[in-house]
Amino acid sequence: MSLQKHSSPPLTFTAGPLDRDALARTNEKKFGTRLKSGKARIVIVWNQQHLISPNHRALILSYNEAARMIDLDTSLLVFLGIADEEPWFALGLPGSDTPPDVGKPAKFVMLNDVIALLPASEASTLAYARAMVIWHFNHLHCGRCGAATKISESGHSRICTNTACMYRSFPRTDPAVITLVTDGQRCLLGRQPEWPAGMYSTIAGFVEPGETLEETVRREVYEETGVMIDAVHYVASQPWPFPSSIMLGFRAKALSTAIRRGDDELEDCRWFARDEIDDFSDLGSTNIGFKLPGRHSIARFLIEDWRHG
Ligand SMILES: [Zn+2]
Repeated sequence: MSLQKHSSPPLTFTAGPLDRDALARTNEKKFGTRLKSGKARIVIVWNQQHLISPNHRALILSYNEAARMIDLDTSLLVFLGIADEEPWFALGLPGSDTPPDVGKPAKFVMLNDVIALLPASEASTLAYARAMVIWHFNHLHCGRCGAATKISESGHSRICTNTACMYRSFPRTDPAVITLVTDGQRCLLGRQPEWPAGMYSTIAGFVEPGETLEETVRREVYEETGVMIDAVHYVASQPWPFPSSIMLGFRAKALSTAIRRGDDELEDCRWFARDEIDDFSDLGSTNIGFKLPGRHSIARFLIEDWRHG
């Protein structure tokens, strides 16, 4: 099993076009030169939202366009990488009740609401920018001594301004496992109470300190469904910037099939025959009675991978 063997499009948020050029991050001169080169492309993130034009494309600003709107010398700017010789930056704007006026016909929109409409490369870049900006705004103070932090390494770390501390923190990514458990021609799906009516998905949970990924898969499946599983196989991963996860997708075969929910995370869980999944309509048609996760999700990818595998 691998993404390369699939004829379906790659997973959303995995088609990033940028060369991150991580070795240049400590070069402040290069950061400034790139920013003011006339080629800079700036992705605004305001209140966790992105600028989307009426034709459902991300609106990316030039340096001059952004500079007309805000003082870039005192703004949160993160170097994202290079594509087609153009340096890309994320510009983080603090939350306010009124969105900034960019003087263009575009609206600030939550990424979740436009994922399915955006070209894959744009979705990946916006996800990256979003995760970076959210991390900065959540780490304005040192987790060790409480003093203010300042941006460093072209926006890829923050450093404490207390000279007795100088603790450096880095953008965090929270690993979460997501697993399709199968038993022959059926698979195990559950639903959380806050999901859209009728939606069922694969079993997921966060990795805890001191755990291997395989142990997390085993624990989460057992806690949420009571099902014991055999060997765990990795399938694919997906960055999930809501706000800062990486979803690690697995498949596992069931050793036991009795369902006994051990925690309250799921309000229902059951085995679905492959025929039921094949009959599924993603319009959520009530004659089938359940829905699968959207096609942009790794949960759906795992289900489709099994169906077609
Ligand atoms: Zn500190």
